[in-house]
Parts: sequence; C-alpha cells; structure tokens
Amino acid sequence: MRADMIGEFELIEKYFNRPARRAALGVGDDCALIEPDPGMQLAISCDMLVEGRHFLSTVAPQRLGHKALAVNLSDLAACGAEPLAFTLALALPRADEAFLAPFAQGLFALAERHGCELVGGDTTAGPLNLAITVFGQLPAGQALLRSGARPGHDIWVSGRLGDARLALEVFRGRVSLPGDEFEQVRRAMECPEPRVALGLALRGLATSAIDLSDGLVGDLGQVMRRSGVGATIEVDALPRSDILAAQGPLLQRECLLAGGDDYELLFTAPRSRREAVLEAAAAANTEVSRCGTIDAGEALRVVDARGAVVAMPWQGYDHFRS
Ligand code: ADP
Ligand code: MG
Repeated sequence: MRADMIGEFELIEKYFNRPARRAALGVGDDCALIEPDPGMQLAISCDMLVEGRHFLSTVAPQRLGHKALAVNLSDLAACGAEPLAFTLALALPRADEAFLAPFAQGLFALAERHGCELVGGDTTAGPLNLAITVFGQLPAGQALLRSGARPGHDIWVSGRLGDARLALEVFRGRVSLPGDEFEQVRRAMECPEPRVALGLALRGLATSAIDLSDGLVGDLGQVMRRSGVGATIEVDALPRSDILAAQGPLLQRECLLAGGDDYELLFTAPRSRREAVLEAAAAANTEVSRCGTIDAGEALRVVDARGAVVAMPWQGYDHFRS
C-alpha cells in the first residue's frame, strides 16, 4: 500500500463515521439499528450509481455525493416517506482523499437537510460504484403507490423537465449552449433536488406517484401498467426552463418525454382535488403543473396544445436495450 493513501478503516472513520442521532445504533457494529415511530411502516429503496452509466467522470465529487443520495431520497419522496437513515456501499479505485473529502461533503450536506443519517455501509477497492439504500417511514398503509391511477384522474408533474437530458446532449456534442446556460442545465443533471416535502404533502391526496428517473414516457408507462390504465399527455403543458424552451421543437420533446434523470415527481389525483394539490404544492414550496389525464384502456397518447397526436418514437431508458 502506498504511504500517502489511507487504509480502509481509517477512511471509514474519517469520512463516514458520524454519530447517530436518531438511529439506535449507527456505524461501527455489525448492524445498524433503527426503529420507526409507533404505527409507522419502513419504506426501503436502493439505487446504484455506476461511472459511465449514471454519471460522467467529469462530475465534481461533491455533486456526485449529492446525487448518489438525491436519487435515493427521490424514491422515498415518490412513496410519500419521511427519510430516516441510509447505508452506503462504496467501491473505490483508490483511497483518494481529494475525492473522498468533497464527496462526503456533498453527501452529508444533503443528508443533513433531510434529517437522513448514514448508519452503515461497506467499502471495497474496485471500479467506482456507489450503492445507497435509504430507509424512510410512513403511516402504515399510506404509501403512494404506482397502482392507484384511475380513468379521469389528472396527471401532474413537479418542477421542470428535460434540462438534465439537454445537458447530456451538450456533453455528447449534439447541442451547444452559452456557458451560463450550460452551467444551469448541468446543475439539473448533477444536482437534482429530491421532492421529499412534496411527497409528504401528497399523502392522502395523490392516487399514484412515481419519480422520473428514466424519462416521462417510460416512467408513466410503469404507472399505467401497475394501475391498468391508459393516459394522455399534453406535451405543450409540460413545464420546462427558458433554456429548453429556446431549443428546436423536436429536441424539446425528446428531452421532456424521454429525457431521464429529472428526479421530479409524476403523480395523479382526482379532478375534484385540484385546489388541494395546488395548496399541498405551495405548502411544500414546490412548483407543480397539470399535464394530462388518465384514460381507460392501456394506450399512451401524446397530444399538442390543439389536441393533435404527436409521434412518439422514444422509449423509456432501459439499461439492457439502450
Ligand atoms: P463487516 O466486516 O462486519 O462487514 P466492515 O468492516 O465492512 O464490517 O465495516 C465496519 C463498520 O463500518 C460497519 O458498521 C459498517 O456498516 C461501516 N461501514 C463500512 N463502510 C462504510 C461506508 N462506506 N459508509 C458508512 N459506514 C460504513
Ligand atoms: Mg463489510
């Protein structure tokens, strides 16, 4: 081992051993111990980030730390769960402190904002790979599921869609943007903000929810399959940044409908609850837009502002097909 590199145990101690506050037992033993509040169910989700697949080698370590946890908190948000704790399984090519220090900083900054503490993990040498498992809690039986959408329900999305994909297209050399605009869309790609407060506010209100990670068409398709319904999306009603709105119409649609990496929530709610949805979103300090309707049947139709059907050549992201 090189003298300038720290060892496994020192590394864990220095960067990942934080005192547990809420957990009964955190890092350091064979297991962590967490206890949900009385009457609450645990909500558990795991997401892995692999270099070259989920992030580019150009990403700043601090943003990578943020994103690794953000994509997991986004799953808790989609279920309406309150974050409690997480574990971190880390494969690192080298015990490089110039990477670890900012990585841990980005990770813990987001963790602290959401009261979600690191309670354990595993650390090994290997190609850079990050797997986080998050634990959240919610009142038993109140999880927002993919299966509750019914014909006639409105379809809503949070935030703005498509900027992360636009940034990826800049990296791929297909699009070029002025420096400040590139920074803005790059931020959307590298620093997504998980919609935890909105997920909590939608409990008892949304009939189904999913977080948008693989592109709206693919993710809405999951809700449709699990709920046994079809859907109509009004592409012109999908919320987008001024930067995306200034791009050509085909690129806009591709980024909005098949973008991926948005980490916004897509959810459904009865028409009669429109006011309540807007109030919940305002209370959660999160923008929401109504962008379609759940239909009987099983087809997805994408229409423009005049109701004309828009061709949809894009599928959701599939790791083994794309
Ligand atoms: P074991 O051999 O029992 O798996 P380890 O030696 O791998 O234990 O880990 C020692 C302790 O450090 C455990 O409590 C484990 O959860 C924790 N740990 C290991 N890696 C990480 C990490 N990347 N982040 C947080 N905790 C970690
Ligand atoms: Mg271990």
